[in-house]
Amino acid sequence: MRNLTILGATGTIGRNTLDVTMRHPDRFRVVALAGGSRWEPMLELCRVHRPRYAALVAPDAAALLRERVKVEGLDCQVLAGERALAELAALDEVDTVMAAIVGAAGLAPTLAAARAGKRVLLANKEALVMAGGLFMETVRRHGAELLPIDSEHNAVFQSLPAGYDGELRRAGVRRILLTASGGPFRTMPLERFAAVTPDEACAHPNWVMGRKISVDSATMMNKGLEVIEAHWLFGAPASHIEVVIHPQSVVHSLVEYEDGSVIAQLGNPDMRTPIAHALSYPERIASGVSPLDLAAAGGLTFEKPDTRRFPCLALAYDALDAGQAAMIALNAANECAVARFLAGGLRFDHIPILIEAVVARTESGPVQSLDEALRLDAAARREATQWLERRAA
Ligand code: NDP
Ligand code: MG
Repeated sequence: MRNLTILGATGTIGRNTLDVTMRHPDRFRVVALAGGSRWEPMLELCRVHRPRYAALVAPDAAALLRERVKVEGLDCQVLAGERALAELAALDEVDTVMAAIVGAAGLAPTLAAARAGKRVLLANKEALVMAGGLFMETVRRHGAELLPIDSEHNAVFQSLPAGYDGELRRAGVRRILLTASGGPFRTMPLERFAAVTPDEACAHPNWVMGRKISVDSATMMNKGLEVIEAHWLFGAPASHIEVVIHPQSVVHSLVEYEDGSVIAQLGNPDMRTPIAHALSYPERIASGVSPLDLAAAGGLTFEKPDTRRFPCLALAYDALDAGQAAMIALNAANECAVARFLAGGLRFDHIPILIEAVVARTESGPVQSLDEALRLDAAARREATQWLERRAA
């Protein structure tokens, strides 16, 4: 029996996780659910999944949730605030934590789960981008077990030898190949980028995802963040990580070995596959995903990414080269840019311009502590806000 805390339970990944756990009540018990500020969907999840604890970061929303939970006679303790999320990630009665909060807000509770030595199912890629070295060191020192949920990294994990120890050379690996769908604007004429709307950017051709990661997919910053994620997860230098566009999203990523063998993981584009894999690893369980019909899929095609069309991808490689401080700035500036774009206050094609400007003003070098990472994150957000204000003036 695995006992779970789900961080980001009300999101796309959180709900997909609950969909898988519900299929196996004999294997999984949901102990705690956590989210940001939306109490109504959290109340609904409490009714269905009966967790012992539920937490929301926003105090007012948590108070409303607490009241309703009481009125409905649910046996669930409601907590509030950021610290509560870290507490739920480290509960003694929990052995497995799904880290599926979007953005930098997920870093502290995800680190808390690692520090408590849990099995950490990592969807929150921004946590690794912001503090990869620190996070991987925490996992090692506290004997946590890290399993990637991001479909590409889960595919790479499955394509690497069992017990892979973070040394590409020792495993005979030549390259890691991350596939990318290219998002909704892979073939759109470049001159139309200026007028792209938030709804167009969020209409991904293959995957159903939250709005932030959907915009990241449209700019291909998502793939950039994933290159950095792969660097930390698999100990791979940037020169050994390549991105290839694969519009069908059937091949989820590949590992190329010295002898010329290329091993890939395939499947329908449905996050319940990597979620079920990580939940039950090393066993295999049903996920609810329909079988892959190769004949119906038809052609699988591959092409090189065009960094003129997708400058964010190049910005991420540059930040990886420049070090942890640049990666923090990249991530923070991207979060600010995407939020402003979604609110209707920034042009789509200005997202990479803002990010580049913020990263250019960042100090470089390694980052030693969570406090330092958070300080650099806040500084980059201030830079981004000032840039936006200058633009608006
Ligand atoms: P969603 O936007 O659907 O869900 C986000 C979740 O995070 C919600 O539960 C939300 O709570 C919570 N949240 C938002 N802001 C905060 C905050 N400040 N503090 C605490 N919780 C917060 O996102 P997704 O599920 O799509 O993505 C989650 C993560 O997984 C992201 O890092 C994404 O990159 C990654 N990922 C997602 C994939 C996908 O297919 N969706 C694929 C691979 C990775 P509330 O509802 O209260 O706002
Ligand atoms: Mg991915």
